[in-house]
Amino acid sequence: MKSAFRLVALSTLLATLTATTARRDGCTVLTQRFPTKVFYPSSDVFEYENAEFWSNTQLLDPACIFRPSSAKDVSDGIRILDATSGKFAIRGGGHMGIKGANNIDDGILMAMSNLTHMSVSADKKTLSVGPGYRFSDVYPYLQQYGLTVGGARLGPVGVPGILLAGGINFYGNQFGFSADQVKRYEVVLANGEIVEATEKKNADLFWALKGGSSNFGVVTRFDMKTIPSKKVWAGIYTVAQQYLPQFLEATANYSSAITDPLSHIVPAVIPVPSGSEINYIGAVILFYDSNTLTYPRCFEAFTSIPNIGNTLDFKTMDEFTTETGAAVVPHINDIFVSGTVVGKTYDQLL
Ligand SMILES: Cc1cc2nc3c(=O)[nH]c(=O)nc-3n(C[C@H](O)[C@H](O)[C@H](O)COP(=O)(O)OP(=O)(O)OC[C@H]3O[C@@H](n4cnc5c(N)ncnc54)[C@H](O)[C@@H]3O)c2cc1C
Repeated sequence: MKSAFRLVALSTLLATLTATTARRDGCTVLTQRFPTKVFYPSSDVFEYENAEFWSNTQLLDPACIFRPSSAKDVSDGIRILDATSGKFAIRGGGHMGIKGANNIDDGILMAMSNLTHMSVSADKKTLSVGPGYRFSDVYPYLQQYGLTVGGARLGPVGVPGILLAGGINFYGNQFGFSADQVKRYEVVLANGEIVEATEKKNADLFWALKGGSSNFGVVTRFDMKTIPSKKVWAGIYTVAQQYLPQFLEATANYSSAITDPLSHIVPAVIPVPSGSEINYIGAVILFYDSNTLTYPRCFEAFTSIPNIGNTLDFKTMDEFTTETGAAVVPHINDIFVSGTVVGKTYDQLL
């Protein structure tokens, strides 16, 4: 019994040592190949990159951080990680609130921060953007061309995560998910090969990347369809607790029959502490893709409720997504959960 226990303990020790060596080797070999692009704990870059997460629940302890600055760097890095069996995680804008989805204990964190290509095609129909950006970088850049894209509804969200996850966006009722608006991907595959995926080229990969998240390769460039946009009519409309029944009814009715594709809403019921009690308010982000029309009919059920706050106005996408971005608090212990409400009638759903 005793010797069997020793045997198990020894094999556990060997497995731990092998794993530690492989991890150290991954960092060491990466450092040999990229002496200025690999960072260790207590260096300024490591501390900066290892704090670039939306939620504190994502903060972990990687052994080193690799910051590539081209598709070729990513390709060489992936080959090294494959050869050294180095476990790694990838982080774009850091907004995926699931522990371990974008960071790693002991392994290698590959941070996309320096993959920062951004350009608009000569015909202005396509934005090429690297995974180092957030939409708070993209919207102001596109504004100078009178353009936008169907990206995140809050500026601070990263480009790669939302485009690979699907992407609920203000233009969804006109053009579909954000992923539907990507025309071409540049991708580094698991064997280090750099390929392009379009509707015609590597069509299966093109299909899989539209919702496949980080499972099919590291995307080093997205080419997205642009949308002409100077200003939109949008803002946050807030109502007091006593009007919540009308607010919920307006939400249910809008969701069950969206009649105007130029519109989009993001409704929320928000708890507000008041002394020893908690009150609730209703706040809805209203978006209408027009720089001439105000108070469209499709929002009447909301905007006819007396408000305690109303920021609806004509604004650029940059102004609007800065406003919505400020409504969410980063660096607290948030986690993502999802649920489904089942019901066939309005009363059941409520
Ligand atoms: C405040 C807030 C607002 C949000 N608003 C919206 C919204 O309006 N619409 C919507 O649809 N979603 C929204 N989301 C969800 C958001 O789209 C996802 O969390 C998304 O993953 C964030 O992208 P990121 O690049 O910031 O995330 P990250 O956490 O950096 O990455 C997300 C995932 O993608 C992987 N990944 C990152 N870069 C690459 C790459 N180059 N190649 C391959 N894989 C990669 C990561 O490993 C990780 O698994 C929101 C989230 C938050 C916290």
